[in-house]
Amino acid sequence: MSIPPLFIGSEIYRGSSYGPKHPLAIPRVSTAIDLSRAMGWLPDEVYIDSPMASPQELARFHTPDYIDALHRAEAAQRVDPETGERYNLGRLENPIFPEMYRRPATAVGSALLAARILAERPAGIVYSPASGTHHARPGRASGFCYFNAPVLGILALLDEGIERVCYVDLDAHHGDGVEEAFAHDDRVLTISVHEEGRWPFTGKAEDRAGGVARNLPVPPGFNDTEMAYLLENAILPLGRAFRPQVVVIQTGSDALAEDPLSRLELSNGALWDAVRALMGLAPRLLVVGGGGYNPWSVGRCWAGVWATLNGIDPAVPPTLEAERVLRALTWSRAAGRNPPEHWFTTLADAPRPGPVRDAVRRVVALAMEDSVSGR
Ligand SMILES: [Zn+2]
Repeated sequence: MSIPPLFIGSEIYRGSSYGPKHPLAIPRVSTAIDLSRAMGWLPDEVYIDSPMASPQELARFHTPDYIDALHRAEAAQRVDPETGERYNLGRLENPIFPEMYRRPATAVGSALLAARILAERPAGIVYSPASGTHHARPGRASGFCYFNAPVLGILALLDEGIERVCYVDLDAHHGDGVEEAFAHDDRVLTISVHEEGRWPFTGKAEDRAGGVARNLPVPPGFNDTEMAYLLENAILPLGRAFRPQVVVIQTGSDALAEDPLSRLELSNGALWDAVRALMGLAPRLLVVGGGGYNPWSVGRCWAGVWATLNGIDPAVPPTLEAERVLRALTWSRAAGRNPPEHWFTTLADAPRPGPVRDAVRRVVALAMEDSVSGR
């Protein structure tokens, strides 16, 4: 039996920060929850408080020594230089912070619960905005990610008997950790849209990771029309040909124009349209978050993703209560000192249409060379 979309969250993200100077100093999941509630989109019956993944569950992908090192680093709130070097901990990108083990383990717990819920039903949608940590590797932290929740969620789906999963990564950065994990597993098709020439500098258009992975690197200035073009001419046809039983969407919001960490220029409506289109690819959908470093952009975007999953148009004026949530946010970056009024008084960005440039057409042509199909 089909059930209404479920939202898995946790209060561990509220007030948790990677440190005052880190891009993840800002609230994200808590804002998505607060905004969704303030809009009347998130009744208690569909909200699930996330469990935390156990060390045994994490070990399905991560090495026991890394899990242990992260656990000890959280308790001690420090790492020795050798441990820091080996696991990429205590550096600028993956700093020591109070919830550095429990927070990512909770994001994995959400993904595992989502996978189990989806595996036992013929249809359904689960949203876990915390679970987009796509860069983490089996034995080291990478790119703000400590444990790889998308990988562990997909592994749980496969372990439950699902045979074809299509993973679509809309984050501004290449979904390298997920691509690498499933490069040689023909049960999983990974498709990543990301800014070319940006960290981690992998995911070139011709790179299929030794298998059927698809990469769609896009130029700075990437606009809404180009996103729609990618969807219509590459992502949807590739996805349909694969005949996935479950679609996993990574909705990093750092490809939005007002995000400080990329030079892509989408409006949040382009991401919502993508989610709406991808919903048609399979009866079961796991939607996770990802990057997003402007607190207003990410909160408005992710609340809108949740509305979209519920068949609600998010392009409506915020309620007074939702506007209060937005006005209460602060941001230490320069743009946060004098935020434009529309960050408080709208949920939908103004659309950002534009020409479809040759670079985008080339990437689509490369992705569509040779067919990809489900078994
Ligand atoms: Zn990103």
